[in-house]
Amino acid sequence: MAINGIQFQKGLSVAQFMKEYGTEEQCQAALMRARWPRGFECPRCSHGEAFEFDRRGRHHWQCKACKYQCTLRAGTIMEHSLLPLTKWYLAIYLMTQSKTNIAALAMMRQLGISWKAAWLLKHKLMEVMAQREADRPLEGDVRVDDAYLGGERTGGGPGRGSKNKVAFVAAVEMREGRPQRLRFDPVANFSFAALGPWAKKAIAPGSCVTSDGLLGFEVLERLNYQHRVVQAPRGKAGTEIEPFKWLNVVLGNLKTALSGTHHAFSFAKYARRYLAEVQYRFNRRSDMASMIPRMAHAVTRTRPCPARSILGRSGLET
Ligand SMILES: [Zn+2]
Repeated sequence: MAINGIQFQKGLSVAQFMKEYGTEEQCQAALMRARWPRGFECPRCSHGEAFEFDRRGRHHWQCKACKYQCTLRAGTIMEHSLLPLTKWYLAIYLMTQSKTNIAALAMMRQLGISWKAAWLLKHKLMEVMAQREADRPLEGDVRVDDAYLGGERTGGGPGRGSKNKVAFVAAVEMREGRPQRLRFDPVANFSFAALGPWAKKAIAPGSCVTSDGLLGFEVLERLNYQHRVVQAPRGKAGTEIEPFKWLNVVLGNLKTALSGTHHAFSFAKYARRYLAEVQYRFNRRSDMASMIPRMAHAVTRTRPCPARSILGRSGLET
């Protein structure tokens, strides 16, 4: 791949990050700007004035109009977290400024917190990314392919690999020969029944979608998208031909980004979040430094997620 400005942008250095987000006060001020850019706004009645006081180590606001009391974290995905804001910001830094997904174990070491706390924090931030990306369909010239991840674990019992295998649709929006945005959406399979709802969510009406002619993608025509089928000539893999070149590059990057950050066991269960982390970073790669305030803003807009909904039905699996 050619050297380009995106790959060589500076991002935010560790030194600069520590200068801006090194103390609890700085993080509190940054989160305040992220949640209430125009100053306090009552979550209940939108009134702009409040009395402020500290209670049990947390700063509180009491709305002057309706008397509602809240903290900066109340009503957000941070609500139930006991971790200092410096840890939240450092986790956001680690997850947004790297090309690869960070493992919970690495986060545990970097943040100096327990493995369970690191795992939960990472999954809450991945959930923020997943919710942020969910309703942003690709548009225009879109290339799609069916793909699988996981299931590569060897040495297990029969069928274990396939149990952990996750089917997903990889899609890239192209403009002037360059990839703009991408989506990775897990699907149950590649049938009409599964791909119809996927298409409506992932691709804007009127788009022109290119596929390799996999039967399930014919559902695109039924849904009134323009559907272009390009098949590889005999002896060539579909991934080698031009329309799918970038799709192939991003799938390669995805595998690199995920390698070592998860065990095959948990992958199937949490695939939506793992894929969303890569998608979120890619779709904002042109301005890495701004990802920290943008991610903090997204955190304040994501509703509380109790641990059990983050963990999933059968509890924590690694
Ligand atoms: Zn109020």
